[in-house]
Amino acid sequence: MKSDQFLKILAILEQECPKWQAPATMFAKHYGYERTPYTILISALLSSRTKDETAYAAAHRLFAIARRPQEMVNVSRETIEQAIYPVGFYKQKARFILALSRKLLHDFNGQVPDSLDELVKLPGVGVKVAKIVLEKAFCKPYIAVDAHIARLCRLWGIADNAKECDKKLQELVPDNKKRGCNQTLVSFGQAICRVKKPLCHICPIKERLGSFGIVCQEY
Ligand code: SF4
Repeated sequence: MKSDQFLKILAILEQECPKWQAPATMFAKHYGYERTPYTILISALLSSRTKDETAYAAAHRLFAIARRPQEMVNVSRETIEQAIYPVGFYKQKARFILALSRKLLHDFNGQVPDSLDELVKLPGVGVKVAKIVLEKAFCKPYIAVDAHIARLCRLWGIADNAKECDKKLQELVPDNKKRGCNQTLVSFGQAICRVKKPLCHICPIKERLGSFGIVCQEY
C-alpha cells in the first residue's frame, strides 16, 4: 500500500471512529483520573497483554493509592499486586512499577523522560509502551504498534509482523498525521475488524481497499 492510499483509509476511519463503541475510544474520553506522564506510563504498562476494560479498572484502583513516583515507592509490592489484579502478569508488573518509580526518582528527579532511548531503559518499558507515552504525554509523532495494528497491517498486506509493521507505518504516515493513529486503528480493530467475526458488511473501508486492489488476506 502506498502512503496516499493508507492516508485515505486512515481519514475514513478517523471520521467513523467516534461512532464505534470501542474501549480504546470510550476510555480515552473518560479517564476519571489525573493524566500526567507518570499515570500515562503506568496505564500503558498495565494495558500490555490485558484488555482495556481490565487495565482501566486496575489503573483506577492503583491511582487511588498512589499517583506519583514519590508516593508509589512507599506502597508495598503486595498492595500494588492486589490493586492491579487481574491484569496480565500482575506480579511482574507490580515489581516493574516499583522499580521504575525508584529509577524515576533516582535518575530523573521524579519526572518521566521524553525520549525513546531513555524510556526503554526503564524497568518493564518496551518500545510499544514508550511510544504510547511519547505520543500521549509529550505530543510527539509516534505510532505504538499493538496486536490489533499488527493484525491489520498483515490483513492489508503491509507487513508480516509487528516489527515490520512498526517500520512500515513510520514510512507510510508523515509525522503530522501520526498522532491519534494508534487510537483510530486500535478502535477499528476492536469494533469493526474484530479478531473473531469481523463486521465486513459494515466496514467503512471495504470498498476503498478494493479500489486499491487490496483484498483482506484472511477473510
Ligand atoms: S473488509 Fe472485513 S477484514 Fe477487511 S478491513 Fe474491513 S472488516 Fe476487516
